[in-house]
Amino acid sequence: MSQLPLIGHLIGGKRTQGGTRQADVFNPATGKAEKRLLLADKLTVEQAIANAQAAYPAWRNTPPLKRARVMSKLKELLEQHADELCALVTAEHGKVLADAMGELQRGIENVEYASYAPELLKGEHSKNVGQAIDSWSEFQALGVTAGITPFNFPIMVPLWMWPMAVACGNTFILKPSERDPSSTLRVAELALEAGLPPGVLNVVNGDKEAVDTLLTDPRVKAISFVGSTPIAEYIYSTGCAHGKRVQALGGAKNHAVVMPDADVPNAVNALMGAAYGSCGERCMAIPLVVAVGDATADEVIAGLKVEIAKMKVGPGTDAGMDMGPLVTKAHFEKVKAYVDQGVAEGANLIVDGRNVKVAGHEAGYFLGACLFDNVKPGMKIYQEEIFGPVLGVVRVKTLQEAMDLIDAHEYGNGTCIFTRDGEAARYFTDNILVGMVGVNVPLPVPVAYHSFGGWKRSLFGDLHAYGPDAARFYTKRKTITQRWPSAGVREGAMFSFPSSK
Ligand code: NAD
Repeated sequence: MSQLPLIGHLIGGKRTQGGTRQADVFNPATGKAEKRLLLADKLTVEQAIANAQAAYPAWRNTPPLKRARVMSKLKELLEQHADELCALVTAEHGKVLADAMGELQRGIENVEYASYAPELLKGEHSKNVGQAIDSWSEFQALGVTAGITPFNFPIMVPLWMWPMAVACGNTFILKPSERDPSSTLRVAELALEAGLPPGVLNVVNGDKEAVDTLLTDPRVKAISFVGSTPIAEYIYSTGCAHGKRVQALGGAKNHAVVMPDADVPNAVNALMGAAYGSCGERCMAIPLVVAVGDATADEVIAGLKVEIAKMKVGPGTDAGMDMGPLVTKAHFEKVKAYVDQGVAEGANLIVDGRNVKVAGHEAGYFLGACLFDNVKPGMKIYQEEIFGPVLGVVRVKTLQEAMDLIDAHEYGNGTCIFTRDGEAARYFTDNILVGMVGVNVPLPVPVAYHSFGGWKRSLFGDLHAYGPDAARFYTKRKTITQRWPSAGVREGAMFSFPSSK
């Protein structure tokens, strides 16, 4: 039997065990399994749903301001526990500590925004819509809601979902990624400490069996998903077929356009972080540069080569590292295979990170930065999401050619343009078929009080994640029309349709 610590679930306010299947949780910097994770079976997920349902009536009727105060307290606790939480992220995901801190801060901002839910829940009121008749709309909670999250932001992405869901009066079941579950669970424990009643937030660890139970159980009213596109599409179609409200955010392949008039040194610095930060394992990462004109491409590539040579690759816990390991051995092999394929397809590999070795961490999943020139739209390394530290340069002649490429791509999550030309920037932002657009901003991830979402096959559903859209996603509108007839006034029966004519 394994002596590794066993991670279970958080159901009804308690750490619980459930399910017989287990999975290893690895430290990607050492390549060693350091924990075991219990994978919830159907029964365990059903227990979580029952707990969430039991907690719902009292939580729904708790005054919104009291619910919001739990979020304010949670924000304080997250700040106090920042080092502990980021260490958990780095130990299982691999990203460098400073990057984990950035993710945590963005998560905290979502908790902060959820504490404004009472403001967002205010309805609309109209007096005298008819003689002595008043009407108003209010936004009511849905009931038991659920979220399924990816490995790449184990703190932030769950915080896109459940804080606003519970602040609006719902209860929640979270199914985090099985690759790095510990920080997600710890945040949920802090939410209990902040005053969230037992059963309002439940965490079940698991895989497809747990997800399928959430997707099909009629007690679950809405599902938020963030992950890869094939799974997002499955979640959307299955959840909708079972009568749920679903938002499913998928994968990406974000293009950065560099115009001939751009401030190239600034663009290069921006591209370095956007392409190689977090090892490229971000849905808003930039894996493709579309350079307008050969001179622009040459200048960008020359700048990138200089900056890549300065990069430090090593364990995320070591101060001064720019890039940690990839998340799992399987993912490391997959990304490396994409680099091999790019070479085979005829792209020009001008920086090869495949043979990077980190002393003392020979079994870690480290890959150095890779840079391709002459990437062409027909190639797999152009079409598919690699989710690794691989940047490709595509050469085009005009802005329109660059925009046509972006518009033809199946994904439409993020994009940006580097230019000094306001007219070009305005044309780009106005017309490009992408959900989040930057102008001289490489990672245009909306702040917590805007909403996040891509277009095309990067999002299935209507409402985006977090921000104002989240308050709408986790509530339904009810419109009430009311009359209190004056004493003694009687109206006769009216058979025509009531109107204000
Ligand atoms: P993934 O799709 O493999 O997993 C996401 C979640 O789905 C996990 O909780 C996993 O357990 C579950 N899952 C996996 N296979 C399943 C199946 N067959 N049936 C039911 N559930 C299943 O994604 P990942 O590898 O964890 O994360 C990386 C992906 O997430 C990338 O494609 C990235 O672009 C995407 N992502 C998108 C956004 C966004 O906002 N659009 C944000 C972060 C990550």
